[in-house]
Amino acid sequence: MSSLPFSEEVIVDAAAEFPTPFYLYDETGIRENAQRLIKAFDWCDFKEFFAVKATPNPAILKALAEEGCGADCSSLAELVLCERIGIRGEEIIFTSNDTPAKDFEKAVELGAIINLDDISHIDYLDQICGLPELLCFRYNPGKPLGSDTAFIIGEPQEAKYGFTRDQLFAGFEDIRRRGVKRFGLHTMVLSNELNSSYFAETAKMIFEVAVDLKKELDLTLEFVNLGGGLGVPYRPEQEPIDLQTISDGIRQLQQQMLVPAGLGSMRICMENGRVMTGPYGVLVTRVLHQKQTYKHYVGVDACMANLMRPGMYGAYHHLSVMGKPTQPDDAPCDVVGSLCENNDKFAIDRPLPAVETGDIIAIHDAGAHGHSMGFQYNGKLRSAEYLRTTDGTIKQIRRAETLDDYFATLDLPTQGQ
Ligand SMILES: *Cc1c(COP(=O)(O)O)cnc(C)c1O
Repeated sequence: MSSLPFSEEVIVDAAAEFPTPFYLYDETGIRENAQRLIKAFDWCDFKEFFAVKATPNPAILKALAEEGCGADCSSLAELVLCERIGIRGEEIIFTSNDTPAKDFEKAVELGAIINLDDISHIDYLDQICGLPELLCFRYNPGKPLGSDTAFIIGEPQEAKYGFTRDQLFAGFEDIRRRGVKRFGLHTMVLSNELNSSYFAETAKMIFEVAVDLKKELDLTLEFVNLGGGLGVPYRPEQEPIDLQTISDGIRQLQQQMLVPAGLGSMRICMENGRVMTGPYGVLVTRVLHQKQTYKHYVGVDACMANLMRPGMYGAYHHLSVMGKPTQPDDAPCDVVGSLCENNDKFAIDRPLPAVETGDIIAIHDAGAHGHSMGFQYNGKLRSAEYLRTTDGTIKQIRRAETLDDYFATLDLPTQGQ
């Protein structure tokens, strides 16, 4: 898989009009995908809270809100971003960890659903601004799902997130005593997962806790949140995850486990980021130089500061050279940026068509955890973002940073002074 969301013509035209590198997103693709997810779960009271950190841009948040998605925020800045564009109240779930007081204050002010990461945060939140009527806890099961889960977020016992099972039960009793009236339960144990059966396993794990809370504490959860983690087929040989299969698996468990326990109407939430926008964004870059030493290097004008995933995780992103789709792949090359760091490589030993200086390369599946992970190391400026809207026009949704932006926090004499 890993097809481009646009025709080459759209990308080449945009690269002729706007300075590279830049991000280009497909509004139609994002909207239709959100509709597919919501439709797959139309048998239950379902809510997707888009993980803002994936693509924190108001144009994209608004489009997703119009399709019925809420927002999953993890910081003060993400909360304020939602506030400014009119997403508030229980359209927001605030899932954070090691949370500063200011962030909790804002979340309470906005009436967001607060998802606590730790039992000690009950007192912390209570002291800052009192406990809201609705509280959610994040569960860390402490053991991996199933037997051979390869791509869980890491071993749950090594993950810093969430309550233990005992803490959950003690915590719910505690907040009920303190007057909390409505309860939710959250977990997030998968990341970039393409095996649909693991999502049913996550549901089974959290439904079990929901049933036990009912039995042991007579506590009825209003919702469970299965977290994000739906994967994207970054590699050509991978297939997209089948939303209907995931939904069917969860539905079966809902019938088997929740309905008999009287929890059949419990809301089921997710907070996906990657799968919502990842395949619908490309990073468009231009070949600046080629270099032949011990290897063949193709130097482009984007760098790891624009897209950190390959350098940070060794993540694969498919590359397409515009105008050369049918040419046979040439000898492998490393596609590199200009940071003074040798992990600034978008691809290593990748067979590509023979490229020339000035060629445009589209880096696939960069629509999530792409621009948002950007940084300014080596004095690199963050690029612009463009959205191809549903009517086919291209709109700038974030301007590129300038040198003045870069120097804005310094006390720096202007030239000539
Ligand atoms: C990052 C994150 C998500 C979104 O993850 P994706 O892999 O983008 O779907 C959801 N919830 C929490 C708590 C996260 O940290």
